[in-house]
Amino acid sequence: MKLDLLAIGVHPDDVELGCSGVIINEVKRGKKVGIIDLTQGELGTRGTIETRYQESANAAMIMEVQVRENLKMRDGFFKNDEEHQLKLVQAIRKYQPEVVLGNILHDRHPDHGRAGHLISTACFLSGLSKLETKDDPDSYREGKAQERWRPRYLLHYLQDWYHEPDIIFDISDVFEQRMKAIEAYTSQFYNPESGDNGPQTYISTPDFLDSVIARARVLGKKIGVKYGEGFISEKKIGITSLDALILNET
Ligand SMILES: [Zn+2]
Repeated sequence: MKLDLLAIGVHPDDVELGCSGVIINEVKRGKKVGIIDLTQGELGTRGTIETRYQESANAAMIMEVQVRENLKMRDGFFKNDEEHQLKLVQAIRKYQPEVVLGNILHDRHPDHGRAGHLISTACFLSGLSKLETKDDPDSYREGKAQERWRPRYLLHYLQDWYHEPDIIFDISDVFEQRMKAIEAYTSQFYNPESGDNGPQTYISTPDFLDSVIARARVLGKKIGVKYGEGFISEKKIGITSLDALILNET
């Protein structure tokens, strides 16, 4: 299945926190969007592999994406090496996305930065015609040969640490739906209805969700709208028309 947009996150919930506004926005514009989770988030303090699968499936339904796949790399210990790069190249070639959204390159959780670099490397390698991968779902060494594919853009979404974004999207119209997608992770984030007696973590308090909203407000303010999502791009972004510009006063 060819996708317009592929969002990749190392932990289930990274994509919701980092770029679900843009995902929902693009789905509403009729684009084909998919999500790849690199790990099952098995080292997360709260929840289990099963609850996180259920939560990520619920969030995918809220965002109305076409497909969500888990590459089952090892949470905390996956490497940015040949094995992992080729596994991700196989997935990129399978979906042939024009744009990829991926983890940030440097962040509080070391997995985020390592995944950001892995995604960046895989997007590049995927475009090399002499690099062979095959299409068997269990092994990139088996099956039919895949065609080369290089996504035109890779945008890294902001995560825990603030980075000055290169581009900010207006997500005001889809903000409610975005928060619903995040709150689908009932084991991870604060939920007043669940009684919440599990171990508390950095992200399980009401303060964390407040900070998610505050981040979107700060980014929105920079472009003259209510809510925004920010991205870093390693290469320059080209636009075809001034129509893409938001003309609010800032
Ligand atoms: Zn994460």
